[in-house]
Amino acid sequence: MTDSSAPNSPFVDRHIGLRPADIDSMLATLGHDSLESLMDAAVPGGIRAAAHLDLPEAATEDAVARELRHLAALNSPAEAMIGCGYHATITPPVIRRNVLEDPSWYTAYTPYQPEISQGRLEALINFQTVIGDLTGLPTANSSLLDEGTAAAEAMTLVRRGNRKAEGPFVIDADALPQTIDVVRTRGEAMGIEVVVADLTDGLPEGELSGLLVQYPGVSGRIIDPRPLIEAAHDRNALVVVAADLLALTLLEAPGEMGADVVVGSSQRFGVPLFYGGPHAGFMSVSAGLERHLPGRLVGVSIDAEGRPAYRLALQTREQHIRRDKATSNICTAQVLLAVVASMYAVYHGPEGLKAIAQRAHDYAARIAAALSAGGVEVVNETFFDTLTARVPGQAAHVVAAARALGVHLRLVDADHVGLSTSETTTPSTVSSVLRAFGVPAPDTDVAAPTAIPAELERRTDYLTHEVFDTHRSETQMLRYLRRLSARDYALDRGMIPLGSCTMKLNATTEMEPISLPGFADLHPFAPAEDAGGYRRLVDDLEGWLAEVTGYDQVSIQPNAGSQGEFAGLLAIRGFHAANHGANGGADGGGPVRNVCLIPSSAHGTNAASAVMAGMKVVVVKAGDDGAVDLNDLHMQCEKYADTLAAIMVTYPSTHGAYEDSITELCKIVHDHGGQVYVDGANLNALLGYAKPGEFGGDVSHLNLHKTFCIPHGGGGPGVGPVAVRAHLAPYLPSHPMHPETEKRMGIGPISAAPYGSAGILPISWAYIRLMGGPGLTRATAVAVLSANYIAHRLREHFPVLYRGHGGLVAHECILDVRGLTKDSGVSVDDVAKRLVDYGFHAPTMSFPVAGTLMVEPTESEDLAEIDRFCDAMIAIRGEIDQVQAGEWSPEESPLRHAPHTARALVGEWDRSYSRQVGVFPTGIDPDKYWPPVGRIDQAYGDRNLVCACPPPEAFAE
Ligand SMILES: *Cc1c(COP(=O)(O)O)cnc(C)c1O
Repeated sequence: MTDSSAPNSPFVDRHIGLRPADIDSMLATLGHDSLESLMDAAVPGGIRAAAHLDLPEAATEDAVARELRHLAALNSPAEAMIGCGYHATITPPVIRRNVLEDPSWYTAYTPYQPEISQGRLEALINFQTVIGDLTGLPTANSSLLDEGTAAAEAMTLVRRGNRKAEGPFVIDADALPQTIDVVRTRGEAMGIEVVVADLTDGLPEGELSGLLVQYPGVSGRIIDPRPLIEAAHDRNALVVVAADLLALTLLEAPGEMGADVVVGSSQRFGVPLFYGGPHAGFMSVSAGLERHLPGRLVGVSIDAEGRPAYRLALQTREQHIRRDKATSNICTAQVLLAVVASMYAVYHGPEGLKAIAQRAHDYAARIAAALSAGGVEVVNETFFDTLTARVPGQAAHVVAAARALGVHLRLVDADHVGLSTSETTTPSTVSSVLRAFGVPAPDTDVAAPTAIPAELERRTDYLTHEVFDTHRSETQMLRYLRRLSARDYALDRGMIPLGSCTMKLNATTEMEPISLPGFADLHPFAPAEDAGGYRRLVDDLEGWLAEVTGYDQVSIQPNAGSQGEFAGLLAIRGFHAANHGANGGADGGGPVRNVCLIPSSAHGTNAASAVMAGMKVVVVKAGDDGAVDLNDLHMQCEKYADTLAAIMVTYPSTHGAYEDSITELCKIVHDHGGQVYVDGANLNALLGYAKPGEFGGDVSHLNLHKTFCIPHGGGGPGVGPVAVRAHLAPYLPSHPMHPETEKRMGIGPISAAPYGSAGILPISWAYIRLMGGPGLTRATAVAVLSANYIAHRLREHFPVLYRGHGGLVAHECILDVRGLTKDSGVSVDDVAKRLVDYGFHAPTMSFPVAGTLMVEPTESEDLAEIDRFCDAMIAIRGEIDQVQAGEWSPEESPLRHAPHTARALVGEWDRSYSRQVGVFPTGIDPDKYWPPVGRIDQAYGDRNLVCACPPPEAFAE
């Protein structure tokens, strides 16, 4: 039998890069006659799933597009005036089409290879400059997952940054309700006491380790933060201000007033509501706290020729290196959305932003004046864009009347209605709002008086850098976006063979629906009856994900893999706490199960998440074959028999091998009372063949931005659903404003919105719908085939470090460069950078094993591209041989000088190889990708930390 018989859905063969004939010839190379024979040899029999995937039959692209338009139409976005941290905004079409909907931006990877990521790094440093300027603090990171988690990160930051402080973390009762709850969930897990306090009359009595003030508050009120900041500083506490970015164009910067940390969301800078996400949260810090910043930080360094170049700064803070001591567990952040928000600021400039803010304020002031004149009390005298109106006993009635007029207001309680104006407010919105309140519209058009306290009016300037004053016409903007994206290497140029990251096709049919107004313009706290389409989408997706993983229940709330890990570990924690309580555990004075075993080869987020969940990390050794050393596992399980909470294990392992030992591993841990967390980042090697929930896992997270086609966006967005067996289901994330009322009570929210990054779920929904069970299964087999083909072609040139069952690799393989480095002096870095000259993005470098490259082709690459990659690697091996033979010293070789920029074509040339070998190693190529900068000096940038836009003179020749 051959595999020329593809399943009967035309999309499957669009998604899969290999033609049936190529599959046959590659199988022949490997000595197999069918995909099934290959998979039988590769996947251990003990974990093979019994039945096929029970999913709806695959549909065509056209049909799926229609189904999604139908689902979108079941949502009824009204004029969103609910506020609460989410505001209507207008994405300038030039930014929507040329960033949000443009594969050169959305298919890029996290900029770990900075030489080929200068475009998005510039956009991100613009973002950091926007945040730094508006918040009035010197250093901002390049995004966090949302405002709620940014506040939770700030709580832990102020403790790290100020060890002498004691006492609870105090949070403003006028903070966003979801922020309060996300902070509480995090505080509970980490053993930090959180106190919610009314700050109207100052701080509560007693010690405090940190304070969070919302500015303006969720009620709309603007409190002067200065006395609170001073009082908190007097008691040795650091102060976090959660601020509204648009309000800061009119309100004095918190940093100017003494805040130590400022957090918030950049959503209203042109990012659609998306029913709650994805949006870029932000954080800025005062001088001295930069090394405690969570998440990614872009900085300026220099390249090999001394020219300025961007790259990620202070990476040693991050979980990849620091693991359980990292500043946060954040890996995937919200790059694409941060780019959108930064470009909104670039396009509008400081005057444009201020005008948008002023207009929103003026509308709010007019509504306030009309309400007061009509006899409705406005509770808050000060405001930017948000009002709280008192309507005793009538709140539900007013909200319903507004809804009938196409406006969503906020039902605060039976007696209060909240409303927020925005960029999309018009005179007609104002009259609808007033009608809902039964109040006559004012008959004149005179502006109402400002409600911004004079002492809080903004006096410091912002966005003075010329980039915010250059791109005002649409032509200029278009060209700026094009110029930046042209500097970057994304999937639209070629293969990105990043092991563990699964950079596969993000099909246009999957992407298009996210812009449909039904999906894009809905507020996360809109009434459930106006979100019927999302409800069906989420129900379908959670059900399908449960089916393909073998678990009983799924929550799509976590907005990155790392957050899924956190949620999964909280579920384990909740389960143990309940059980111990019952049999003389935690409450009965017995030991608490809090030890989390983590294999040495695990992803850094695993350890960082365990710490966030209040667990103690114990490392389990790997054997010589790369698999978890079962003897060591036994020993650790015995040693921690009373306190073992869980093991976190990746399957197939991070070594890219299907290990036979997984079933026994799960048994050992279960026998010792522990739960098994299977990190599902490698699900692309399992779909249709094995289900973690069936072979021993109690809980997994998946990365929809890996296996299920959500694009990587240059480092986010992502979705990290958590999937559990039934006994853990009661401990899945809840949310105080969840549209499904039964999910409002529970362990609490781990992200700001009930459905996390709801706006990108249509992508994964579409993928599963387009592929069906047989299509997904075939994709897995083809991904495994391609990886094994590469391992086979390269085996004589670079040793393949680990192989699993049947001597085969899974969906990725580790190429060991260490021996060559030792013999030749050519480093894994040199190989990665030289690949750029050959027109490739490097594979994953030094994870999970230092000095190696991990290659994952995915099922979406075609044979010609795979062969082009293998040819490049073989040619590079030839260059290493030349170094080894003494033809070049490592320092003089094209490998060390890589990547070569176009500058290599002009000026003096005194290298020991020709210009052509440098820039056109495979012959002259008119389509060559030219990196804009040469090799970047990482250490220089960390010694001379610059994290905001450098002045234009820095780039002068
Ligand atoms: C990508 C990855 C993660 C983290 O996922 P994010 O979405 O980046 O937070 C965790 N574990 C493994 C093995 C991964 O490859």
